[in-house]
Amino acid sequence: PYTGKSFDEMSTTRDKHLVPCLKSYYKKPLLITEGHMQWLFDQTGRRYLDLFGGIVTVSVGHCHPKVTAAATAQMNTLWHTTNIYMHPKIHEYAERLADKMPGDLKVKQTVIRQTSAITYTYPRLAEKGVFHVPVQVVYFVNSGSEANDLAMLLARLYTKQFDIISFRNAYHGMSPYVMGITAHSTWRFDVPVAQGVHHAMNPDPYQGLWGGKHCRDSPVQTTRDCACSPDECEASSKYYEQLEEVFKYSLPRGKVAGLFAESIQASRRRGRHGVGGTVQFPKGFLKKAYELVRINGGVCIADEVQTGFGRTGEHFWGFEGHGVRPDIVTMAKGMGNGFPLAAVVTTPAIAEVLGQALHFNTFGGNPVACAVGLSVLDVIQEERTQENCKVVGTYFLQELAKLRDQFACVGDVRGKGLMIGIEMVSDRATKAPMNNKHFTDVWEDCKNMGVLIGRGALNGNVLRIKPPMCINKEDVDYAVAVLRKALQTHTDKAKRQAN
Ligand code: PMP
Repeated sequence: PYTGKSFDEMSTTRDKHLVPCLKSYYKKPLLITEGHMQWLFDQTGRRYLDLFGGIVTVSVGHCHPKVTAAATAQMNTLWHTTNIYMHPKIHEYAERLADKMPGDLKVKQTVIRQTSAITYTYPRLAEKGVFHVPVQVVYFVNSGSEANDLAMLLARLYTKQFDIISFRNAYHGMSPYVMGITAHSTWRFDVPVAQGVHHAMNPDPYQGLWGGKHCRDSPVQTTRDCACSPDECEASSKYYEQLEEVFKYSLPRGKVAGLFAESIQASRRRGRHGVGGTVQFPKGFLKKAYELVRINGGVCIADEVQTGFGRTGEHFWGFEGHGVRPDIVTMAKGMGNGFPLAAVVTTPAIAEVLGQALHFNTFGGNPVACAVGLSVLDVIQEERTQENCKVVGTYFLQELAKLRDQFACVGDVRGKGLMIGIEMVSDRATKAPMNNKHFTDVWEDCKNMGVLIGRGALNGNVLRIKPPMCINKEDVDYAVAVLRKALQTHTDKAKRQAN
């Protein structure tokens, strides 16, 4: 049992000594003292089903025994050296991670020179001047923002261009560099950011100008009708034309350094508003966007911070679902199952540009982080986590679609695998967002019945479901029953108020 400070004592400390911008969920924030797999426990021992996994940070389960054992064993051996020395874990992990890249990226190639910090992972072979590495090389860092920072730097140095494109509504991090590609007013401070950054129209088939029932690659269709066939999505071309306009009107000589895209826009809510909300691009869009960027000299960067490591079910990486092959992949969050660990994976040719100056990251690739990362990969393989995301996620989506058909306030259910969004509306036809008070009531009700869900989107009206990837069908049944009850309570109340 928990014997630490009381809830009230901790609230006082929080108000007094933590930055005021640190927000907490729920009218009365939860004090969480323990976690096990898909479960969280508060100070009284009450159990909650965690459908938010610390914003997809917990991938294989809270305190997964195998990951905990790997971290403990490494902590008892060696915590840290920085990468000025060699240690076995970083080499093993870099190799395993590079090997997770799809298809022909696994082909070995000969690299002639060793120049950058990135290739520290192959120093012995490099001494010989010629060595074999997987086509991908890895730079370990500590957070998603750091990874995207580095990706932006790589894109600019490699292409010798400055301009970057991201999509409105995207979230790529909070460092001053990447704050600019996070395209959302609620995450903006009154300081100059986003120099040379252009935000393209968000290809959102539900709230955007174009899109309909066949547009998304999801087991559930949008409620919006469209004339497109299941294989050919007209919305894709329309949003593509908007991207072309960015090249035409905004980019110097139409040239670009890089495009950042999440494979499914995710991210979280802060304050009154939020971002993301699990927006899925129309089928075929990203492929065409990548082609356009490459024709104009840029590189394509996949932000897999939320969509990587099998979460979308069908594939290990979210970008594979779009049939694209990025030049740079950034990853974090679930990669360390809650341990600070992130990476940039790219080609040796792109990585080489870092040899132009010194580049260093004190904690990136430390032995404990690498031991954790390796054990996460082991668990994903041994427990067939990706398959679980596909099976349980598809079942979840189908059950949620039934709620959508039952309750008018559920405007849209979308997603893939265990990356799910439920957009709540006050009017199905106009898709006006459900008002904040009503949304909060439904969301708090779920918490009171023992289910923790995230929230997101510009108007904070999307329920976000991104649980630890170990949840099962019984958990889904429980969560759907809780949601059904909360929605019924809301609907009955709205009816009473209308009469
Ligand atoms: N990219 C995406 C898609 C994210 O969701 C986040 C975090 N919400 C980041 C980047 C930034 O990661 P971090 O908070 O670890 O800096």
